[in-house]
Amino acid sequence: MKKKLVFASNNAHKLYEIKEILGNDYDILNLQDINCHTDIPETADTLEGNAYLKASYIFEHYHTNCFADDTGLEVEALNGAPGVYSARYGGGEGHDSAANRKKLLENMTNKSDRKARFRTVICLIEDGEKHFFEGEVKGQIIQEERGTSGFGYDPIFIPNGYDKTFAELGEEIKNKISHRARAVAKLCEYLSK
Ligand code: IMP
Repeated sequence: MKKKLVFASNNAHKLYEIKEILGNDYDILNLQDINCHTDIPETADTLEGNAYLKASYIFEHYHTNCFADDTGLEVEALNGAPGVYSARYGGGEGHDSAANRKKLLENMTNKSDRKARFRTVICLIEDGEKHFFEGEVKGQIIQEERGTSGFGYDPIFIPNGYDKTFAELGEEIKNKISHRARAVAKLCEYLSK
């Protein structure tokens, strides 16, 4: 019988990505599958802290092995901002990507150092023990938006080694080199041992 593993997310795209890699060995369930409709608070001030908050909520309430992720864009000239606050950088409740990008570009006006990185942290809780996996992709923030694919900060981020933004490169390339893909690869490597 396959081992059960809950992914503390309702993001269908992320779930699909993980099932593709681990689906033969693990029965991967999302929050809907376990009937969890709680908006788990993400109140920590680090990516590690938020990933742990989400995973530990599931472990404590559902007593099952599980993992959660959190991602942020860290800009060098802004001392690592927006970082853990990436989703709500532009104000409001969050997930207004256009407002987030607008605020970032405004704060980057006249900055010559455009270096940035996306960082994803995954927290796995397995039999009560926590394990962290991290993935990053380094690049540059450009001056204006380019491209239409992807989401979030993709139209203003060019990964190192490329001359197009994530939003211009498209999903296939992004999913090979992204922060999230790298963190997921480390989780999968650990789980398939
Ligand atoms: P989450 O932890 O995956 O929900 O990501 C938090 C926020 O970071 C999102 O709301 C986006 O603004 C941003 N973000 C995360 N991953 C990406 C990405 O792959 N491209 C662009 N923005 C991202």
